[in-house]
Amino acid sequence: MIVISNRLIRLFEVFLGGGIKAIAFFPFIIIPTTTKINAVLINHERIHLRQQFELLLLPFYIWYLIALKRKGYISISFEREAFKNEKNLKYLKTRRPFAFLNYL
Ligand SMILES: [Zn+2]
Repeated sequence: MIVISNRLIRLFEVFLGGGIKAIAFFPFIIIPTTTKINAVLINHERIHLRQQFELLLLPFYIWYLIALKRKGYISISFEREAFKNEKNLKYLKTRRPFAFLNYL
């Protein structure tokens, strides 16, 4: 479910830093009014929703925050999987469970 909210994005930016274009927070994809929505963006966030579901939500968020602090955004396995496959709009149909482990 897509939610358009600048206020929610600002709340996440307190924890994650500024410049968020969109964020997946199961079962929502939250997008600020400044972001142009397209299929690739939604696919990227849907990959994160799948990752979150597989890790039963809370462990995902903890893992993500620790990895963000230690490695930086672009090196997080969740992000590496999402960026590598976001343009493949059929990716989630063929993706193996826990595929983010291949990007550690
Ligand atoms: Zn991402």
